[in-house]
Amino acid sequence: MDTKQLDNRYVLPTYARNDVEFVKGENATLWDKENKRYIDFTSGIAVVSVGHGNKRLADALCNQAKNIIHISNLYYIAPQAKAAQKVVETSGFDMQCFFGNSGAEANEGAIKIARKYGEVDGEVKRYKIITLKHSFHGRTITTVKATGQEKMHNYFGPFPDGFVYAESIDEIESLIDDHTVGVMIELVQGEGGVEPLEKEKVQRLAKVLKEKDVLLIVDEVQTGVYRTGAFLASNLYEIEPDIITLAKGVGGGVPVGIVMTSKKEVFSPGDHGSTFGGNYLSSTAVCEVVDILNEAKRSGELDETIAYFDAKLNSLYEKFTNFFEKKVGIGMMAGLRCKDAQTLQTIVQNAKEEGVMVLKAGRDTLRLLPPLTISKKEIDEGFDALDRAIGRI
Ligand SMILES: *Cc1c(COP(=O)(O)O)cnc(C)c1O
Repeated sequence: MDTKQLDNRYVLPTYARNDVEFVKGENATLWDKENKRYIDFTSGIAVVSVGHGNKRLADALCNQAKNIIHISNLYYIAPQAKAAQKVVETSGFDMQCFFGNSGAEANEGAIKIARKYGEVDGEVKRYKIITLKHSFHGRTITTVKATGQEKMHNYFGPFPDGFVYAESIDEIESLIDDHTVGVMIELVQGEGGVEPLEKEKVQRLAKVLKEKDVLLIVDEVQTGVYRTGAFLASNLYEIEPDIITLAKGVGGGVPVGIVMTSKKEVFSPGDHGSTFGGNYLSSTAVCEVVDILNEAKRSGELDETIAYFDAKLNSLYEKFTNFFEKKVGIGMMAGLRCKDAQTLQTIVQNAKEEGVMVLKAGRDTLRLLPPLTISKKEIDEGFDALDRAIGRI
């Protein structure tokens, strides 16, 4: 049986798969089984931040794998402690980290910290968490419920109580009551349509929450680790959240989820844990990815890449304004809002045929999330293919 047949026979059908099988990758370029070349404007949904086949990351992982891959959080783990130091120091926040394995798990950790923070004398006094209607926070039972999109709550109940949905950031303050302990937001909604929140509104919200002692939880699972050009979108928005979650890009493809918080006193031994979280292998990935991207940021290379990509996206937008409402996103979390869902569907299909991989977000947004190390040549090639894909409509 070939891969497709094996998958159909043995893997649960939770994904509507594209009929492509990639066999080789090099930075932002992929080759499929038939040796067709593609430019990757998706990076595995903002995961492969340092590109495919990154030699530095691969060498670090190989060296670590030949020694210790995993022991247990019962013992001190040097790469984990170093990864925490790198993430915290780069963020500029006075925080500590907990290591898990996915975005949803990081958000679960954030919710647990907030809920425990809301306890008084062992009793939960404040437990409600406000999230946004168009948010996405994960696929576990709790994070599905934390996700504001109604269509995510179709099955799987009963869900944990205590999630309240705001129509927009403007509505959050009016929803706060005596039981509210936290507000969880994405600064640029990923799945919700690559829509950045307004900086002034976020700063005002942060101030209100501080006054009310309601925790600000920023889900940076997609925006984190230089996706927007700053290490964290929170840095770009010049806010100081109480809790931040990271995942996707932080391991460069190795599964890692991190919840970091300035509320260092909330968790005690036994309150939270993970068998795999922060093991030698995944923490080594975090150290290497953060090092690589810190260097790219410091040298100016990352900002140059982002400016180049943005200029190309602008030209494309201006050439095809009849298909698009507006350009959305920040940095390498970019998109074009299409005039209708059918146009988007056609663009995605044509793009695949022309040799560039792109994503959808929400109903009508074309989403582009290239590796942060993408070369100018790859950017040129990707946009040429996208130009042909849209031109064919
Ligand atoms: C992808 C994503 C998640 C879920 O991450 P998983 O690793 O799939 O569990 C949570 N929040 C945001 C903002 C995301 O983009």
